[in-house]
Amino acid sequence: MVQLDLSPLIGARPGERLSFTLDEGPQQLDDISVAFLRGLIQFTRVQGGILVETWVETRVEVECSRCLELFLYDTVLELEEIIGLGGRARPGISYALTEEGWFDPFPLLREQIWVNLPMKLLCRSDCRGICPDCGANLNREPCRCEKKIDPRLAPLAQFLEK
Ligand SMILES: [Zn+2]
Ligand SMILES: [Zn+2]
Repeated sequence: MVQLDLSPLIGARPGERLSFTLDEGPQQLDDISVAFLRGLIQFTRVQGGILVETWVETRVEVECSRCLELFLYDTVLELEEIIGLGGRARPGISYALTEEGWFDPFPLLREQIWVNLPMKLLCRSDCRGICPDCGANLNREPCRCEKKIDPRLAPLAQFLEK
């Protein structure tokens, strides 16, 4: 968790800005593990709130949809979102500063990670997945079902060769 002090923007005129550099190591964002979060977050005072703009690089630990192995997925979190002031939540605004003007950007970034992740996550484009019968990870090992079938097919194969 990172707490940014946005209190100078509460009483500021529209258009005033605060920028922060993010350079964080491994983090647990609720249900998501990331290796790092690096980039820029800019806050601009707008009418009735603050506009958040991010450009943050991250590396997310995800599970392959086919073989279920964990792998690392790099993505850039670019978002624009209006947040509320001083703990006041309004319809259509999901995030707000605390009364004192603190803001934790991680929940917003976590949400953007989910937006960025493709529906189907593959550890590599030609991932061969898992055999539904024997559970073998076909990227690493041969399917064990084939071995069971082989001895029975061997005489047939010999017969066909004649
Ligand atoms: Zn895979
Ligand atoms: Zn198998």
